Amino acid sequence: MKRYPEYVHLITNQEVKDIKYDEVSRLSTLTIQDKSSMSTISIKTDYLIGADGSSSMVRKWMSTPFTGHSGHLKWLVVDAVLGPKHPPLPHYMQFVNDPSRPKLSLPIPHNRYRWEFVLFPDEDEKDMVSLDKVTSLITKCGADMEHLDIVRKSIYGVQNRIAHQWYNNENTMLIGDAAHCVPPFLGLGISSGMRDSMNLAWKINLCLKGVAPPRHLLNTYMEERKPDVVQISERSTNAGHIIMTHNRVVALIRDIILFFLLLIPFVKALAMSSGMKPSTNFASGFKHPRKSKTWRSHLGSLMYGDFNGHLIAQPRVVHGERVKLLDEILGLGFSVLLFNFNRKDGTVCDSAAVMLDQLKVDDMLWKKLSTSFVQVVKPNIHALHWTRLHPSCNIVEDIDDHLDQYSRGSTPMVIVVRPDKYIYGVFHGDEIEQAFQSLSDAITSGSSTTSLLVN
Ligand SMILES: Cc1cc2nc3c(=O)[nH]c(=O)nc-3n(C[C@H](O)[C@H](O)[C@H](O)COP(=O)(O)OP(=O)(O)OC[C@H]3O[C@@H](n4cnc5c(N)ncnc54)[C@H](O)[C@@H]3O)c2cc1C
Repeated sequence: MKRYPEYVHLITNQEVKDIKYDEVSRLSTLTIQDKSSMSTISIKTDYLIGADGSSSMVRKWMSTPFTGHSGHLKWLVVDAVLGPKHPPLPHYMQFVNDPSRPKLSLPIPHNRYRWEFVLFPDEDEKDMVSLDKVTSLITKCGADMEHLDIVRKSIYGVQNRIAHQWYNNENTMLIGDAAHCVPPFLGLGISSGMRDSMNLAWKINLCLKGVAPPRHLLNTYMEERKPDVVQISERSTNAGHIIMTHNRVVALIRDIILFFLLLIPFVKALAMSSGMKPSTNFASGFKHPRKSKTWRSHLGSLMYGDFNGHLIAQPRVVHGERVKLLDEILGLGFSVLLFNFNRKDGTVCDSAAVMLDQLKVDDMLWKKLSTSFVQVVKPNIHALHWTRLHPSCNIVEDIDDHLDQYSRGSTPMVIVVRPDKYIYGVFHGDEIEQAFQSLSDAITSGSSTTSLLVN
């Protein structure tokens, strides 16, 4: 927020009490009350984003159903600040699948530690948050009460709910827990909300600048994000069944199966990495459509994979004399990555001028999209020896060859990347001529792959 003082104003200890939408001005008016003085102010806004959690008043105001279930399963959560003399605790998250009391422990920032314990249906919530009970539970997990301060002990109910509509076709959207509450077993609650905000921010920016008409573009928000949340919810529910069984026989069978499965290196590697978590790629939304492809490009997609709608890799690249991560070069707007436009000696290949012409690199649209052009080269000669394709191009060396996964041999290739770092489209050889028009059409007409999704 410090970086953008002219755009971000933080007001705290205030509650939104009322929302009104004016169809003529297309502005929302919020009535906001100071929780101490009870005085109220009004704010008018072009767009309203309900990031107000699972009990969202914005969602209620939108009158969209929030279907699923809440509170079938309850957990006790205990947070403590560890003193300097506290004995070391595991520095990783641990689910303990003990049928007598499934539990979870993990370190959290600012020298805090968290323990969570499943409640059984017959247990009294007041009794469970008593200091005696909490002490008895956490000391069994390695806590030393002499050297910690408990800062939170509360009960929460697991929720599994998704709002039907995340955008009301006017100016109001929901993100985070206001739009979806997923069970916690994959630890993806907060990331889902952050993905929502990344997806939405650049779309609202384009609408505010008048570059794109709002409804079409904003309708792609839920179209892209909802399938990810549904997958997280399903996988998390399944993980919960595995973790939380109270039946000792079922737990024994589970443990035996898991023991043998984890002897398989591939399964172990998957379990130890984030491989269990669903990928965030989206199948339909704001990306270059398959439908306009030729049979050759269809064949290419089958052979090499279709990366449109995938999060772009984040390799190390050399820029100037420094090693950076790719997204430091891509910046906050759209980006166009240009591959194989140079010969091995660094000079520009014959077809480069025609292809740059087809890309319309000087067109106003690229400027409106705050586009950065990035020429990706192999680290076989020093970066200074590569001929720059265009004065605005940054040159980066793909030192780990991670970007090679998108290419087909040495054919020139262009990747158009959205501000949230999802690939809009990968264009090889002859397809490069489609890149500009495809993006331009998608910006002006919104969703490029499917009919609009309105619940
Ligand atoms: C015990 C527990 C453990 C969790 N563990 C994890 C985990 O390990 N990993 C993970 O990813 N997720 C975890 N989650 C889920 C995660 O906390 C949520 O997904 C995340 O906080 C959602 O963020 P949010 O900003 O959408 O909503 P919230 O964090 O609920 O924030 C909403 C904010 O809006 C404010 N607000 C509400 N109404 C109004 C109003 N009318 N006016 C003004 N302000 C308002 C609220 O005061 C609040 O500050 C856990 C949740 C719980 C309860």
